[in-house]
This record gives sequence, C-alpha cells and structure tokens, in this order.
Amino acid sequence: MAAFSLDHATMSYSVSPIGFVRSCFKEKFAIPRQPQLAPAARGVLELLAPFDTGEAVQGLEQVSHVWLLFLFHQALEERPRLKVRPPRLGGNKSVGVFASRATHRPNGIGQSVVTLDKVEPGRLWLSGIDLLDGTPVLDIKPYVPYADSVQGACNRIAEAAPPLIAVRWLDEALGQARRHGLRLDEPLVELIEQCLAQDPRPAYQNPPPERRYGARFWDVDVRWHYPEPGTICVLEVVAA
Ligand code: SAM
Repeated sequence: MAAFSLDHATMSYSVSPIGFVRSCFKEKFAIPRQPQLAPAARGVLELLAPFDTGEAVQGLEQVSHVWLLFLFHQALEERPRLKVRPPRLGGNKSVGVFASRATHRPNGIGQSVVTLDKVEPGRLWLSGIDLLDGTPVLDIKPYVPYADSVQGACNRIAEAAPPLIAVRWLDEALGQARRHGLRLDEPLVELIEQCLAQDPRPAYQNPPPERRYGARFWDVDVRWHYPEPGTICVLEVVAA
C-alpha cells in the first residue's frame, strides 16, 4: 500500500506489496523471459490484509487474465542503468533501458500479463507466470482486451517469441518427472519442457556435452545438458 508521504521536492513516494507470489520458480535461472511462454508455470498470489477478505477481488472471477505490477526484488540496484544488454540480442548488443524489459531498471518495477485460473478470498491462482517465488506484488489490474491488445503494434527488437529448441528426456528422468508431478499435483513434465525449450543458457555459451546445467522447479532439481547444438536432454529430476 502506498504510504501517504508524497515528498513534493523529490516526488518520492513509497509503496508496499499487496501480496506475494508463491511460484514454481525457485531461482531466476530457467524462468521464461516473458509471461505466457510456459502455460504450465503456475503459482498463487497470496494477498495481505486488508486485501485478503474477498472484497478486493470481487468481480475478478469474470476476468481471464490480469496484469501484475511487481517488484524485481532480486534485481534491485542502487544506481539505475541507462543501457542494458537484452539476452535476445545475444547479450552483446546494448539498448536503452526503456527500450527493453530488463529486470535492472529504475524503480525495479516489472509487469506481466498472467492467466487467472481461480479466485478465492485472499488468493489468486495463476498460470503462465514468469515470476520468482516470493515476488512482491504492488498492484493487480484486469486485462482489458479491447484496450490492451493493440492492432498493428510492432517491436522490431522483439518481433516474435524466441525460437524453441528440442527437449529430449532420458527415460529415467521422464519417469522421475511424472512421479514428482503426481506427488505435487502439478504439470511438471510440461513445465520442464516449456521452460527448457526456451533455452535458458546465456546466449554466448556454446557448452560441450559434458557441461551440466540445473534449476529448481517447485521442490525438485532438474539437470540437463546439450548433447548437440540446438538440443537439450533432461538427465534427472530429483528431490531438492
Ligand atoms: N514480464 C516482466 C516485465 O516485462 O516486466 C518480466 C520480464 S523479465 C525479462 C523476466 C525475468 O525476470 C525472468 O526470466 C526472471 O529471471 C526474472 N525475475 C522474475 N521475477 C523476479 C524477481 N522477483 N526478482 C528478480 N528477477 C526476477
């Protein structure tokens, strides 16, 4: 909630979270770079008092998607950056911070349009998220299709979703993922495939097959490698 202490000299204004996201993503690595790229990425937004009684979300059950405004709480920096190197430009070309959706930005504010699966008093069930576990949410706004979907819009830096790469599984790893998915009651196989197909590795890395990568989804650690360029193979899915 906003603290009503607008400082007219600096226009500084303090805000505080209306809730926190409990997310499938326990670390930044391997989170898709935008929402909706991994529909199986689920989470719950737990609202704080006084928004947790049901009144504040009344009517939201009529809405399929919401905008979340949130704090990049694990990327906050003292000094704002003016130029950033977006991963989609290969990490070696820079653009102005306002031409990108980079996490390091003035005021540290992120925005994501996410699917609203269920509304309960004090709790919103979400999917298609790109948010780290524990992300503080500053505001929620309903998606308004006629206003938010702009005909003829273009962005020549990010024209289309990033290309996907092939994801294969070792048989044992697929069995492990299915078992953990059943235990968690979550679409874990889909989550892993959708996130790894985005190719989380930094663009400049061209790893040899023996190099292992890993990330945590829910309470499991997923490990994979690149047996050949353009292909990921999931090696194991084990309890964290
Ligand atoms: N859709 C948002 C936007 O445009 O403002 C986020 C885009 S940002 C490029 C997406 C990345 O933010 C994710 O891949 C993840 O690594 C990172 N991220 C997500 N939640 C975060 C948090 N709470 N703190 C820091 N980084 C976070």
